[in-house]
Amino acid sequence: MNCVLCPRACKVDRAVNIGFCGASAEPEVATICVHQGEEPPLCGKKGICNVFFAHCNLKCIYCQNHDISSLSAQSTGLIRYRGVEAIVEGIAQTLTHTENIVGFVTPTHYANHIPAIVEGLHARGLFPTTVYNTGGYDTVETLRMLAPYIDIYLPDFKYMDPDLALRYSHAKDYPAVALKGLKEMYDQKGSSLPTDDDGLAYRGIIVRHLVLPGQIGNSLAVLDEIADLSPNLHVALMAQYYPPLEGLPDQLNRTLTEDEYDQVTEHFYALGLHRGWVQELSAQSNYRPDFTKQQAFGL
Ligand code: SF4
Repeated sequence: MNCVLCPRACKVDRAVNIGFCGASAEPEVATICVHQGEEPPLCGKKGICNVFFAHCNLKCIYCQNHDISSLSAQSTGLIRYRGVEAIVEGIAQTLTHTENIVGFVTPTHYANHIPAIVEGLHARGLFPTTVYNTGGYDTVETLRMLAPYIDIYLPDFKYMDPDLALRYSHAKDYPAVALKGLKEMYDQKGSSLPTDDDGLAYRGIIVRHLVLPGQIGNSLAVLDEIADLSPNLHVALMAQYYPPLEGLPDQLNRTLTEDEYDQVTEHFYALGLHRGWVQELSAQSNYRPDFTKQQAFGL
């Protein structure tokens, strides 16, 4: 195929070449594991079965999963599953330990394989709730193709500042793309997040925004857009940023200050956003994955 799966539209044949994301045609996964770190309606008591795809179509310079998002070919040995069959098998095994919910993490560059993965699970008699945990840089066409296969969208909304999006994620058009994508998700799912008797969500959208140090104006603008689309959307405001590497530009070499986070949380409530989660500032120390381990989050 000449890949146009994401807005970068590299138009490479991934059977023989790679584009920006670095992914070949065959889906590659670093780990499939139980994860307790998502929002409560996605984790329940036992945790979500998360599928951490290798490579990424954004490659944010501050990525906490940079070990697997900027993987150089197969050289690091961090890939544990290759191909749809192996991924289905890994999910089936992991689901025996988790709630009946599967999260596809950083899936955009493999979105074309998600129908086959979900159908492979159905063929085994497994019908988990499916979560599309995306960086937010998806085309509307891809999201429409996914509609029958995805129950819950879990998109990041990282930037409304195009220059920041270019500097940090190599995508000046991120604000426009993310907004269009969120509108499509909203058209598909609306703003409600219904839950079952165990408190597990089975349909809907949760929009995530990670507040970056020194970039409070960007965060306020992102929240403005979300509230403008619907103040009833569920929003997870995240304070967990920490510098994953040395030598990052601007103020990315530090964590958020209390004053910065206060400005954003005050704006969140002032806009009338009333559904979702506002992370504690102390979360900065709790989200450091180690992808050399199958259970990358130490569970
Ligand atoms: S999925 Fe990868 S190869 Fe395809 S358009 Fe996006 S970045 Fe390019």
